[in-house]
Amino acid sequence: MQNVHAHAWDQDLHFAPETIHEADISRGFRIDLSVQFDAFMADMAPFDKVLLFGMKARLNGYWVPDQYLADFIAKAPDRLRGFAGCDPTQPDCMEELRFGIDVLGLSGVKMGPIYAGIDPRDPRCHEVYAWCQERQLPIMTHCGTTYNSKAPLGFSRPWLWDEIAIQYPSLKMVLAHVGHPFCEECLVVIRKHPNLYADISALYYRPWQFYNMLIAAQEYRVTHKLLFGTDYPFAKARDSIDGLQNANHLVEGTLMPRVSHEVIDSILNRDSFALLGIH
Ligand SMILES: [Zn+2]
Repeated sequence: MQNVHAHAWDQDLHFAPETIHEADISRGFRIDLSVQFDAFMADMAPFDKVLLFGMKARLNGYWVPDQYLADFIAKAPDRLRGFAGCDPTQPDCMEELRFGIDVLGLSGVKMGPIYAGIDPRDPRCHEVYAWCQERQLPIMTHCGTTYNSKAPLGFSRPWLWDEIAIQYPSLKMVLAHVGHPFCEECLVVIRKHPNLYADISALYYRPWQFYNMLIAAQEYRVTHKLLFGTDYPFAKARDSIDGLQNANHLVEGTLMPRVSHEVIDSILNRDSFALLGIH
């Protein structure tokens, strides 16, 4: 099994104090967002491969240096890969990316336009897209809502990435969290573009939305574009796997449609690293 969405950071070093406080909103209770290597690896036991990011977004007080991520990955290089952080509002964005990819050997680029306060269609982002497409580097982007009050929701809409995919057809991109709560919008965007995928991380704990997203994915015939992820430390591995396997629990004893077992197994067993070209 593979996990394409997990985080590594030191919240005290890398997050602004108000950002730590706002994280409580995500689950409605206090979450310890610190990531310790041993606890992290214990949680990741079900996975052969894990894709990791920090986050760079000045507007909302996130800044995880790529060097920190690379050092974390170097402790388990056979199982961990990572993406360089990218905040296109910062003038040295491309310089940082070149260091993260060329010097540190990271495998792709992580964006969070809603956190950075930038429209994904902004001209400042296009150098990143063109560079990644040319170098066959995949992009993982946050998509959908968040709890940070300064993050503009308008920049989280999945349809914005339709325009990017039209302009950069061979750029591989993953829209995180199936763009919740705009899941159907996300599904129709990834349906159109062969190189666009979505990860299902951090959705199982909203079981009604999660169930409806999976049914919609079946109806649109895009379940083969859904990648498994957890969004550690916001959600743990075992809970996330159980959440997917139990996706039909809400509708037991009803005539409501079912998420097929084949779909559930295929999401869990997908070789996402191969689809994204991560070695
Ligand atoms: Zn995440």
